[in-house]
Amino acid sequence: MNVIMKFGGTSVQDAEAMNRVVNIVRRQWADNPADLPPVVVVSAMSKVTDRLVETGRLAADGRGDAAEHIVADLLARHLGVTSTLVQGAALDELNAQLTSDFHALQTDVRLWAELHEVTPAAADTLQAMGELASSRIVAAAFRQQGVNAAWVDSRQVLVTDAEFSAAVPDMDATAERVKAIVAARTAAGEVPVMGGFIGATPAGVTTTLGRGGSDYSAAIFGACLDVDEIQIWTDVDGMLTADPRVVTNPVLVSELSFAEASELAYFGAKVLHPSTILPAVAKNIPVRILNSRRPEVRGTMITADGRGDRQTLTALACKRGVTVIDITSSRMLMAFGFLRRLFEVFERFKTSVDVVTTSEVSVSVTVDNTRRLDDILSNLRNFAEVSTESEMAIVCIVGENLRSDPTLFRRAVTSLDRIPLRLVSQAASRRNITFVLRDADVTSAMNLLHDQFFRAKVGA
Ligand code: ASP
Ligand code: MG
Repeated sequence: MNVIMKFGGTSVQDAEAMNRVVNIVRRQWADNPADLPPVVVVSAMSKVTDRLVETGRLAADGRGDAAEHIVADLLARHLGVTSTLVQGAALDELNAQLTSDFHALQTDVRLWAELHEVTPAAADTLQAMGELASSRIVAAAFRQQGVNAAWVDSRQVLVTDAEFSAAVPDMDATAERVKAIVAARTAAGEVPVMGGFIGATPAGVTTTLGRGGSDYSAAIFGACLDVDEIQIWTDVDGMLTADPRVVTNPVLVSELSFAEASELAYFGAKVLHPSTILPAVAKNIPVRILNSRRPEVRGTMITADGRGDRQTLTALACKRGVTVIDITSSRMLMAFGFLRRLFEVFERFKTSVDVVTTSEVSVSVTVDNTRRLDDILSNLRNFAEVSTESEMAIVCIVGENLRSDPTLFRRAVTSLDRIPLRLVSQAASRRNITFVLRDADVTSAMNLLHDQFFRAKVGA
């Protein structure tokens, strides 16, 4: 099985964490000796990107000393890591490289501060330093421990447009570079080690894919290499059946579909954002979430089909503190254009609507952003009666098999029989059902549902 292994910021946060990475990759390869070497993608060490962003802000404000100070701090943090991981001439060479890169950055930062300007291109060059540095260190750590690894400059591989801070990859051009540069390494028996998040325009100007973009890099490279699995190594065991802050005994979701993951991501199940793995979805490559602190845990596997087990739901999610808006117009509701007019009001005030239900004479919607609520209400009142209810919440049950097994819905409603349900809605995909209820009832509703659908599995 050929794999790409992406390690997030906390998985490379210090020397100990980087050592774990070396061992995880070594074991993966040792267990699959007939395969090509794994391809490794790393994030910047944790918090480094945040500090680089701060550096840019300070420079733009003309605060050159403070900005340079952060860069010096970051260099010290990286040098502090290398000395425990690498020795001898390799250490000298690595430290010299990092020192010269960070010093060059300091010179740039001073200049930007004098000009009181950090252009979008400059900001990307600045932020790219985190992944460039972490990937160089990890590559050297591999070699120190006898793993045949090669640092690969992602800026020569990931070709993007010039939309700085949100660069869009050119998949065809990138695929060619991946073949010429990355696949050539693996064919030669080397583990390519690359920074995520960063790329370059065809002219070679450094770009970034946007915050959190390393998952996206891994999915892009994985799709170009046509790997059998994309592994996202992080600091949790995987996705849980519910938010542990709300439910007392959530369990690991061992397998789910890309579509289910999208439904859950919307509710802040943040482990992985599905839009970042679209290249994997397009090529139907499974994505596995794993914990670099507990590599023995199987993690969560995300595939096109999801779970084989069709007995129960996949997971629950909730969103607290939403407001329900009821819009009633006995005269106009069924009239042409009423809904358009209604939603135009939300659009005008840049407020997105989550759940929508309608009856013959009324429309109810939920919003979580109430910043422009007064404006919205007064505009709606031009053509309808409007009332609101705040401190509400959305509870959502997710599972591919909601489509095929009607008893799941009945079980959900029955288990909530003592809780007043304000709205109920099933989306077209039919892989989720949404309940809107009082925020005060969220904890009991979530726990009742969780007991109903997942307790048997825990006890078993
Ligand atoms: N280092 C970048 C960030 O913090 C990219 C990533 O880690 O995915 O946003
Ligand atoms: Mg991340």
